[in-house]
Amino acid sequence: MTGPVPKPWIMEIAPYVPGRATTDSGKKAIKLSSNENPLGTSPAARAAFEAASGTLERYPDASATDLRESLAARHGLDPARIIYGNGSDEVLHLAAGAFAGPGDEVIFVKYGFAVYEIAARRVGAVPVIAPDADYATDVDAILAAVTDRTRIIYVANPNNPTGTYASKDEIARLHAGLRPDILLVLDHAYAEYIDGQNDDGGMALAETASNVLVTRTFSKMYGLAAERIGWGYGAPALIEAMHRIRLPFSITIAGTAAALAALGDTEFVEHTRTHNAEWRRWFSDEIAKLGNAGLRPVPSQANFVLVLFEGALTAEVAYKGLMEAGYIVRWLPGQGLPHGLRITIGTEQETRGVAGVLRDLVERAG
Ligand code: PMP
Repeated sequence: MTGPVPKPWIMEIAPYVPGRATTDSGKKAIKLSSNENPLGTSPAARAAFEAASGTLERYPDASATDLRESLAARHGLDPARIIYGNGSDEVLHLAAGAFAGPGDEVIFVKYGFAVYEIAARRVGAVPVIAPDADYATDVDAILAAVTDRTRIIYVANPNNPTGTYASKDEIARLHAGLRPDILLVLDHAYAEYIDGQNDDGGMALAETASNVLVTRTFSKMYGLAAERIGWGYGAPALIEAMHRIRLPFSITIAGTAAALAALGDTEFVEHTRTHNAEWRRWFSDEIAKLGNAGLRPVPSQANFVLVLFEGALTAEVAYKGLMEAGYIVRWLPGQGLPHGLRITIGTEQETRGVAGVLRDLVERAG
């Protein structure tokens, strides 16, 4: 007899590959591979984290009352409709766990966030990939992929790894085209970075519709990726079902304290937003100047830019060249993007540095 047999659908999962922090030779490098906040974290959040980290022997508040009430007050929401988890990753998994099962279909876009496929397969559901429109989310393609067995549609807006943004009208059209029994998950991990603080209307839909869940995170704009705090908002029946299967204590006391303080530090958030908008524009312009050499920035509304390599310099060579120069970015051959690098917007120095290395590599390849 061999040992326990994993479920066949579990063996279909390609494990998540996180952004690297060290180079091939094991050296520490500037990490622009995981869309973290290059400005660090709010000083108030750090102080609150340190003050709360002395409590080691007690369980955290399983119902996260303070966090839910603070989020509700900050965003004008109903605290009872908030779910939380170990990063928004957990909330994305909870959605699949509660609303999809063996044989059901879960739709996401071709260049979508890797966790959607893992969440779908984990529960035995079948992932269905909707084609993109020049790397952007194509609402018509998603609607065309819907069948009687569709249970969930995951849309990140802005999308990772492309950075593209679907407008409020597009999201409304997507939602209007769905049967009410299909859950639309709008993943707002990068929503705070959208220019002009545009809103895709997701939160308003989550407030009124019975089938929309919006997920958000403290990992990006709030600079708390290490603390793993994410949350979701939707109709009471959606939230109630997800609560049944969540881990009782998935967010920590110190992490929650940091999140509460981060929510209050609007200055840090605004500074991050302004910095990102400025350097995202600068970096995209610099890449566009290398258009003759086949480099192309995909228009981004997130804290990273997907750079396509369609000339003599390949993404693989650029990836290795950047690594040699001490910058780790994300090369995604496993996600159908052997010709693309996803590069997080760093500090001014880091962003100028990456652009400079790419310019040199283009010259050498030319
Ligand atoms: N959604 C998207 C689109 C992401 O890119 C990420 C982070 N990689 C997440 C969700 C999950 O972030 P976290 O679990 O840190 O909240």
